[in-house]
Amino acid sequence: MNSSPEHNKRDYGLWQRTYVPEVFGGLAITARHFFVNLKNHIRRLIGRKDAAPGAVTFQYPEQRRPLAPRLRSLHRLTKREDGSPRCVACMMCETICPARCIYIVATEHPDPNIEKMPEQFTIDLGRCVFCGYCVEACPEDAIRMDTGILEFASYTRENMIYTIDQLLSHETAKPDAQDTQ
Ligand code: SF4
Ligand code: SF4
Repeated sequence: MNSSPEHNKRDYGLWQRTYVPEVFGGLAITARHFFVNLKNHIRRLIGRKDAAPGAVTFQYPEQRRPLAPRLRSLHRLTKREDGSPRCVACMMCETICPARCIYIVATEHPDPNIEKMPEQFTIDLGRCVFCGYCVEACPEDAIRMDTGILEFASYTRENMIYTIDQLLSHETAKPDAQDTQ
């Protein structure tokens, strides 16, 4: 396939190079959609049930689009019944993370039946690519991405680093998804 600049070059006339036809063409398309929608909304408003439904938009942020059940949102660490993290600091998530943004420091668990727990568990969300591999790799169902939280942008990189306390404090957006299932 010839992809040289010469081959891709098109012969635009002077009129086209002013962008005027394209600008007015775009405006015409937008205006057509606007008036067709307006007509449909008015016809529905006056009780014409045979009219096509007008396009609607979500009035964000007051009105939000329902989240897909499988959507990956902000992480959380799940808890045991006593409130301690389910995480056993096995490092599977830290190892598989392609963005290298999980940092765990393990310590001994006070319960002799549980080998380890995280002393520190940090996720740098400024680097996370939301692949969900950490959730998939976890053998303890200790990390999930089901909070439904999508707005966590920050002005500083530091604020994008979530500590273990923050991750444990997040709740699920799915009421039927209990940590201790
Ligand atoms: S979602 Fe992916 S990139 Fe983000 S912390 Fe988990 S494994 Fe790493
Ligand atoms: S969250 Fe899961 S995979 Fe990650 S260290 Fe804890 S138990 Fe292991």
